Amino acid sequence: MDPALLDAADLLRPFRDRFVLPQGTIYLDGNSLGCLPKATAPKITELVNVDWGQNLIGSWNVAGWVDAPQRVGDKIARLVGAEEGEVVACDSTSVNVFKALCAALSANPGRSTILSERGNFPTDVYMMQGLEALTGRRVSARLVDGETVLDAIDDDTAVVLLTQVHYRTGRVRDMVATTAAAQARGALVIWDLSHSAGAIPADLSGANADFAVGCGYKFLNGGPGAPGYIFAARRHQDTAMPALSGWFGHARPFDFDDAYRPAPGIARFLVGTPPIIGLAALEVGVDLMREADMAQVRSKSVAMGELFARRMAPLCERHGFMLASPADPAERGSQISYAHPEAYPIVQALIARGVVGDFRAPDVLRFGLTPLYTSFGEIAAAVDTIAAVMDEGAWDRPEFKVRAAVT
Ligand SMILES: *Cc1c(COP(=O)(O)O)cnc(C)c1O
Repeated sequence: MDPALLDAADLLRPFRDRFVLPQGTIYLDGNSLGCLPKATAPKITELVNVDWGQNLIGSWNVAGWVDAPQRVGDKIARLVGAEEGEVVACDSTSVNVFKALCAALSANPGRSTILSERGNFPTDVYMMQGLEALTGRRVSARLVDGETVLDAIDDDTAVVLLTQVHYRTGRVRDMVATTAAAQARGALVIWDLSHSAGAIPADLSGANADFAVGCGYKFLNGGPGAPGYIFAARRHQDTAMPALSGWFGHARPFDFDDAYRPAPGIARFLVGTPPIIGLAALEVGVDLMREADMAQVRSKSVAMGELFARRMAPLCERHGFMLASPADPAERGSQISYAHPEAYPIVQALIARGVVGDFRAPDVLRFGLTPLYTSFGEIAAAVDTIAAVMDEGAWDRPEFKVRAAVT
């Protein structure tokens, strides 16, 4: 596993030149905020100067603004194994989780429990808890241990909210088997694909998934706060009542009718006026991702994870790191995580030396592997930096122990 040979054989290597990559930085945080595609700034500049600056309101029709959520959604659909007309790009993932939960409850009447696993991404769990409070506990939010989630489905379970790739450990759930098992017990499934799209193959149609949501600013490189997306299987679209019944999800928004009537199809999951600049940046990232072969993306991601793990093994012995991700690369998404009691200052010391990963409470160092722009040489150099920081004790300084607002 010589990094130079791996880089020479890397079929995705040309994509690296399509990104702005800061000098002197090895960026292993693309699972949290993806890098800037070179095409994004010119696209946004033109949109701002011409479509907004000159053509103003006419651009809703002429520049394709009004269709942007569906157009970008259709492009994302292919990356997550959905069909055209099953995905729209809109809102934040948190808001889309709420919309999907409400839609699933309305599509599975007579049941009122929403179920997820402890330690799921917090916003998903908080949205469940907020819905429970909003409904005066008519809906109950239930959390169980990850391994027991299927066994916990009972006659009252309307929907199970699960993440394909766990944000902290990178553990991958089998979407096909899990969806089938949940549906066999009468529950619907919402998949959170925030750490999947653009990183590992996801096949919503193949898994017969009911609903899904995901992020635009991680592996899709859509920019900070990019819109997320929501998927509803076609069979649910006309029965699921949108809880956030905004005018953009109305059948005829420009009739300005007093009565809400949901649009047919996926459009009913839109709420308000779409964020056009954010959608334009997202579309650039999605277009770039669609040029890549997902099988190549996955195999490079696995190879990067294996190189990382192999080089970290002696550091686990010497400095007490514990692999916090599954050891089997087939069960791991496009990240690798290690637990260490001093994880926070170690991550800060690494960032000071140009290796950007992140810390996830309580004790995890997380390294994102982004096949489009990370090289094998960088993976090897990143682990060498971890070794140096540990061997020199360079993490043990007061300035690395001060917690910032965003970790
Ligand atoms: C990143 C992430 C989110 C983020 O939600 P936002 O509303 O965009 O802040 C939600 N769910 C999961 C699983 C994530 O990894």
